[in-house]
Amino acid sequence: MDFYVFTLFPEMITQGLGTSILGRAMEKKLISLEAINIRDYSTNKHHKVDDYPYGGGAGMVMEPQPVYDACKALETKIGHKPRVIYLTPQGRVFNQKVAEELAAEEELVFLCGHYEGIDERALELVVTDQISAGDYVLTGGELPAMMMIDCISRLVPGVLNNQLSADIESFHDNLLEYPQYTRPEEFMGKRVPDVLLSGHHANIETWRRQQSIARTLRWRPDLLEDAVLSKKEKQYLEQLRKEMQKNG
Ligand code: SAM
Repeated sequence: MDFYVFTLFPEMITQGLGTSILGRAMEKKLISLEAINIRDYSTNKHHKVDDYPYGGGAGMVMEPQPVYDACKALETKIGHKPRVIYLTPQGRVFNQKVAEELAAEEELVFLCGHYEGIDERALELVVTDQISAGDYVLTGGELPAMMMIDCISRLVPGVLNNQLSADIESFHDNLLEYPQYTRPEEFMGKRVPDVLLSGHHANIETWRRQQSIARTLRWRPDLLEDAVLSKKEKQYLEQLRKEMQKNG
């Protein structure tokens, strides 16, 4: 999968994503990442990319020309119009389902705004999707772009050594993941749950599913509406709900 990021701070993207699992995925050519400096496309002799907002108001707005020309140059390079995602607090909120949808693409382009954002006309001309990192405002789109590229890359076959981990992690079934333990068996007086040391795979699986259900009920009950549960698990959830009501 090929990622392109339009940004005024390309080093933020390349330095932030070039290590660990994603760095190895790039070496293995499972994914590629190109951070494109919007400033390089400015036709202004000082390579200026922002100006005051028409109508007044605080801050600066990124000019349409460099953004538009940068996108057109990429279109020419790759030979077609790609899916261009503008990172904005006004877009639909990113989550695992959006990541799964985007992971089906062969390439994705992320457009990072800065200052007060980007001139609306450039957005109308080049953007296909508007996606938000969450209901809060950041100084730029770089961190959201990095976060989304990280999440989507994990879904690209081969990027994770153990693909199973993506299939059982939090949000996959609309459940949070069960607690994880590693050695030692006892730490600061706290023991690893006996069932995990039993070697009994069916019991371990049941325990993990129940832990997932209990955690989701406690921390993210909203997710349970769309969770995929067996009949037995639904009964377990009902029992937990009753206990919670009883204990206030
Ligand atoms: N004035 C804009 C508004 O109120 O919608 C916010 C501009 S913000 C200070 C600057 C840039 O940061 C945006 O253009 C966007 O690219 C990025 N940004 C800020 N918060 C974001 C969020 N929650 N999700 C995605 N991108 C965000």
